[in-house]
Amino acid sequence: MTEKRKRIVIVGGNFAGLTAAIKLSRRHAVTVIDPSRHFEWAPGIHEILSSVKTPQGLRLDRAAIVKQAGHRFLRDRVTVLQPARCRLSTAGGCELDFDACIVAVGAVWNTHHIAGVARHAMPFRSVADGLAIKRRLHTLMQQGKPLCIVIAGGGISGSEALARSCVATATMPACRSRWSRPVPGCCQACRRHWMPTCAAYANPMR
Ligand SMILES: Cc1cc2nc3c(=O)[nH]c(=O)nc-3n(C[C@H](O)[C@H](O)[C@H](O)COP(=O)(O)OP(=O)(O)OC[C@H]3O[C@@H](n4cnc5c(N)ncnc54)[C@H](O)[C@@H]3O)c2cc1C
Repeated sequence: MTEKRKRIVIVGGNFAGLTAAIKLSRRHAVTVIDPSRHFEWAPGIHEILSSVKTPQGLRLDRAAIVKQAGHRFLRDRVTVLQPARCRLSTAGGCELDFDACIVAVGAVWNTHHIAGVARHAMPFRSVADGLAIKRRLHTLMQQGKPLCIVIAGGGISGSEALARSCVATATMPACRSRWSRPVPGCCQACRRHWMPTCAAYANPMR
């Protein structure tokens, strides 16, 4: 008698979810669920700001990747997960029973309840976010006034966004970094494009 195929559901189909799907054997009945059509290369979205990358250059067809791995893709959002019953429900009205479920839904944008953030700030997590910021910068630049851009968060994403915003708006000489030491992504862009004219970055330790 043949053994029944295990039903494995993967919730979320970006880096973690697709890696799991690719590693799982075709002997299992694997379903990847994600509401979005595209796998997105999040580490590259800052390059949309400077037009080095296009949205198409950072997106891949998720259904094609899952199919190539020999599994099934369901474009939907999981709304209820009942581990005890081994069942989940989706926004589209599907009810799926599973033997194992992998949750790979990533992180969410968090305002940390800071007043005004949700209303005035633009999130920076997805290709769509990068595109929205690029369009906003473009609109502001067309007004012909000096821009004041605040980037909240000075980690890797923030510093990459800073470098690319500066390239996009060609205002690097006006940038005033509050960092006390060089920021890798930013300084690379600086060296390539602006170092000769950028006083703040010519002496990044000050
Ligand atoms: C601007 C930026 C720059 C970054 N740079 C780097 C870098 O240089 N190096 C690095 O290592 N990492 C970087 N990261 C982090 C990296 O992108 C994340 O660690 C990675 O995306 C996490 O992968 P993940 O699959 O866990 O989650 P995600 O990539 O966030 O994917 C989660 C998926 O789950 C889906 N999902 C969410 N909710 C549901 C639901 N209810 N039902 C079904 N599906 C759902 C989403 O649609 C999404 O496709 C960067 C991130 C950002 C935002």
